[in-house]
Amino acid sequence: MIKLSQVTKIYELKDSTVTAVKNVDMNINKGQIFGIIGYSGAGKSTLIRLLNGLETPTKGTIMVANREINHISGRELRKARQEIGMIFQHFNLLWSRTVEENISFPLEIAGMSKKERSKIVKELIKLVGLEGREKAYPSQLSGGQKQRVGIARALANKPKVLLCDEATSALDPQTTDSILELLVDINQKLGLTIVLITHEMHVIRKICHRVAVMEDGEVVEEGNVLDVFENP
Ligand code: ADP
Ligand code: ADP
Repeated sequence: MIKLSQVTKIYELKDSTVTAVKNVDMNINKGQIFGIIGYSGAGKSTLIRLLNGLETPTKGTIMVANREINHISGRELRKARQEIGMIFQHFNLLWSRTVEENISFPLEIAGMSKKERSKIVKELIKLVGLEGREKAYPSQLSGGQKQRVGIARALANKPKVLLCDEATSALDPQTTDSILELLVDINQKLGLTIVLITHEMHVIRKICHRVAVMEDGEVVEEGNVLDVFENP
C-alpha cells in the first residue's frame, strides 16, 4: 500500500542544512497497522508529511496506493490525497461547527449533495460511537470524543490509508486505550491501512503489527513488534 525507496529529506536553512530523513526504505502492506517510533527530532513528523504529500522528498520515491505522490501537483495530488486520511494530536477541529458539520466538511469540499452527506455522516457517527452528540460543538466534548470526531472526519472520503500523528499523546491513558481500540476496530471492519507515529512504546505494543524505529532521520530497526521489542 505504501512504499518508500531511498527517501531523503533535506531542509535548507539560511546557512546550514538539516537532513531530517535519510535513505529510508519502507514497505507497508494493505491492512497493516504500522507504527513509527522515535524520540523528538528523529524525523517522524517529516516522514508523515512526506507520506501526505505536504513535503517533497529531496531524493527517492514514495508510492501510496499505487500512485507516486512526489513530483505530482494540482488535480493529481488532490486525488492522491483523497486516498489518505489524517488525524492529529490536537484534533484540528473547526470550533464554530458542530460534530456533524465537522465530519461533513470534507464531503462538502468534495461537492457532495446534502442528502448523500447526511447519510455518510450518520454511518460515521455510528462507527465512532458518537450517537447523541451530533449537535454538540467541540468545546463541549471530552478529548476522546474530539478525537472520535477527528477519526470520523478523516474517514469521510473513504481513504485507503489513515495517518495518525501522535493521535493519543494529548489523551489520558484510559482514553488512549479506547481510541486505540477504535482504530483496531476500524482496521478490521474496513481493512484500512493505518500508519501511526508516536514516541510512546505502549501505543505500538498495544495495536501495531509492525514497527520501524527512527533515530536521527534513519530507520535503525524494522520488524514485527514482538521481535523488535522482546529480543535482547
Ligand atoms: P520528530 O517528528 O521525530 O520530532 P521532525 O521530523 O519534526 O522529527 O524533525 C527532524 C529534524 O528536522 C529535526 O532536526 C528538526 O529540527 C528538523 N526540521 C523539521 N522540520 C523542519 C523545517 N520545516 N525546517 C527545518 N528543519 C526542520
Ligand atoms: P493546536 O494545538 O495545533 O493549535 P488546537 O486543537 O488547540 O490545535 O486548535 C486548532 C485550531 O483551533 C487552532 O487554529 C486554534 O487557534 C483554534 N482554536 C483552539 N481553541 C479554540 C477555541 N476555543 N475557539 C476557537 N478557536 C479555537
